[in-house]
Amino acid sequence: MYLKELEIMGFKSFSDKTNINFTKGINAIVGPNGSGKSNITDAIRWVIGEQSVKALRGNKMEDVIFAGSDKKKASGFAEVTLVLDNYDRTIDVDFNEISITRRMYRSGESEYYINKTQCRLKDIVEMLMDTGIGKEGYSIIGQGRIDDILNNKSDGRRIIFEEAAGITKYKHRKAESEKKLEH
Ligand code: ATP
Ligand code: MG
Repeated sequence: MYLKELEIMGFKSFSDKTNINFTKGINAIVGPNGSGKSNITDAIRWVIGEQSVKALRGNKMEDVIFAGSDKKKASGFAEVTLVLDNYDRTIDVDFNEISITRRMYRSGESEYYINKTQCRLKDIVEMLMDTGIGKEGYSIIGQGRIDDILNNKSDGRRIIFEEAAGITKYKHRKAESEKKLEH
């Protein structure tokens, strides 16, 4: 599985609809300071459900919506679609391509879609569990994350290994059913 495409619209510095295509293997994004490179990785984090404003380098969630410039007015919503190549069936669904979309309005309300069908964030989180892509996954290694992994207390490090071993999903399901039993 690999990241095939990213479509960004009204997210941070990307006011117009922007498509970025990636190929299998190593892809590098280069550009001057402030040109939007980190905004691209923020978009990837955000579309898979990042809820932490700090992780997205903002003060409030609304900061992810294009704020306007001299020539362009501010956007009413931000929308990011990430397309995964699933030809190898890393994700156990019968699709060669899986798209994940998040749209957020200034009211703060987010909508999520898998292959253009509206879903809950929970569906995306569960689909990505054990693939390494999710929020707790190891496929996005930001600055500081390496230190986290090296310095982590054994508990934190175990979470990373559990994700790699593919048992996060089962632990999550167990916790969910235990929660149900309590109620
Ligand atoms: P560096 O090389 O310094 O790390 P970079 O290419 O990673 O730079 P980013 O941090 O991705 O740059 O982009 C920063 C730019 O994005 C700034 O110019 C900032 O004004 C702009 N920006 C961030 N949020 C918004 C927003 N909501 N609306 C418009 N522009 C935004
Ligand atoms: Mg940067």
